[in-house]
Amino acid sequence: MTRADAFPLEGGCTCRAVRYRMATRPLFVHCCHCRWCQRETGASFALNAMIEADRVTLLQGRLEIVDTPSNSGKGQRISRCASCKVAVWSNYAGAGDAIRFVRAGTLDEPDRLPPDIHIFTSSKQPWVVLPAGTPAVPEYYDRNAFWPSESLERRAALLAARSGR
Ligand SMILES: [Zn+2]
Ligand SMILES: [Zn+2]
Repeated sequence: MTRADAFPLEGGCTCRAVRYRMATRPLFVHCCHCRWCQRETGASFALNAMIEADRVTLLQGRLEIVDTPSNSGKGQRISRCASCKVAVWSNYAGAGDAIRFVRAGTLDEPDRLPPDIHIFTSSKQPWVVLPAGTPAVPEYYDRNAFWPSESLERRAALLAARSGR
């Protein structure tokens, strides 16, 4: 897991117009090897840090929200810099606006957030060699089996706050 003392982290887009701050450790970090992520990144996988939306602050710049199809069929809303169009995070239909999937590669120090799990490895490009010791699943997974208890508690608190509104 990521060191607790490494936060906050900052990141942003390529033209430097958009800057953001991630206040705490994310809930969980996905390395997704699905074909959709391969296409969106133009590479072999996407690295997404899932975190409560209110723990990510936009410090400067303007985001453009782009509705984009997703693997689930329910779509995702990708937040991109309005100038250079680099994607900094997504919101998926499942968790709605409450959880952001921050593109870990946009952090100033992306090395701080290695994957907690590799998902959709059934479509992993064959030359990508996964490290021993990090969980890997062919498609998706049961959160309760992999997330640390602190992250499960944070998620439960988030859902409780949403239903209480
Ligand atoms: Zn930009
Ligand atoms: Zn994916």
